[in-house]
Amino acid sequence: MEQAIKDRAQKLKDTLNEYARLYYVYDNPAVSDYDYDMMMNELKKLENEYPELITPDSPTQRVGGEALNLFEKVTHTVQMGSLQDVFSLEEIREFDERVQKTISSPEYVVEAKIDGLSVSLEYTDGIFTRGSTRGDGFVGEDVTQNLKTIGSIPLKLSQPVPFLEVRGEVYMPRKSFLELVEQQELNEEVPFKNPRNAAAGSLRQKDPKVAAKRKLDIFVFNIQQIEGKTLETHSESLDFLKELGFKVSPWYHTFSKIEDVLDDIEKIGEARGSFSFDTDGAVVKVNSLQDRELLGATAKYPKWAAAFKYPPEEKETTLQEIEISV
Ligand code: NAD
Repeated sequence: MEQAIKDRAQKLKDTLNEYARLYYVYDNPAVSDYDYDMMMNELKKLENEYPELITPDSPTQRVGGEALNLFEKVTHTVQMGSLQDVFSLEEIREFDERVQKTISSPEYVVEAKIDGLSVSLEYTDGIFTRGSTRGDGFVGEDVTQNLKTIGSIPLKLSQPVPFLEVRGEVYMPRKSFLELVEQQELNEEVPFKNPRNAAAGSLRQKDPKVAAKRKLDIFVFNIQQIEGKTLETHSESLDFLKELGFKVSPWYHTFSKIEDVLDDIEKIGEARGSFSFDTDGAVVKVNSLQDRELLGATAKYPKWAAAFKYPPEEKETTLQEIEISV
């Protein structure tokens, strides 16, 4: 391998690691998500071609960022992985082909991908006991008190399920974000750069009174662990979560043909500008929970799901828009 390739890979690793630290640990990104994703893609391609470039400190091998020392640490019993990203519909077809090598006639669920911060919520005998951030996927931060300020998180479920752990995305509605930035500017504070970073920064406030003022919300999208109930499919689990009192993924549809999956991804793309929250993609998931087991996971993400990311021209709420609107 040429020295120039080694140098380029090292440069990408160092830069991406620094960007990820600013984004995940300090909620203060230095570049746009699109620029970050494109650099990450370049590094993945180099590592694919030259596997000897893959080192444990490569950002391709890690999920998220470390937990801050401000909070108690929580070790996740079920790892909170990330998702494999794809940037074209063709790659969704390739994902389907890979799935079909193990599963014949898979059924898929397409969901809107909420641009927020991933959390775990634990319930014992139907009572909310602990909530934590994803962190690096293995260890997150205990943000129970801040999560309790989010009105749509049930403190008591409609049924006393013996034990339940769910995963969801905490987000800041666009309207709340615009109000917050306006207020920060009035106070001559450095405003958050986008709703995702505002949500992460607000949830990781030491004082729950501050978090309470930030008008955060949540969509729950997965059952991580459950006792006392058997479920066969993901769509069934979303329906059950709704019954328990959660606000679940706002857009989810089940399909058996990949053409219909692709159509639905396009529909989300067309509709997302009108959503009250930022959506950075669509997630395609194998519906059968047994098929998911068969497909398994890599060290970083499940093999039964893929996240399609929309191109950046269909802009989410960013500071640029706000500068125009104020
Ligand atoms: P990701 O955004 O690619 O997707 C994984 C996440 O999607 C999961 O953790 C989950 O919480 C979330 N999600 C939302 N809705 C979901 C749904 N319906 N079903 C399943 N999951 C859902 O991965 P990531 O690891 O969270 O973040 C990586 C992204 O963060 C990058 O693609 C990049 O855009 C951004 N980033 C930006 C910078 C920067 O400097 N701008 C730095 C680091 C990361």
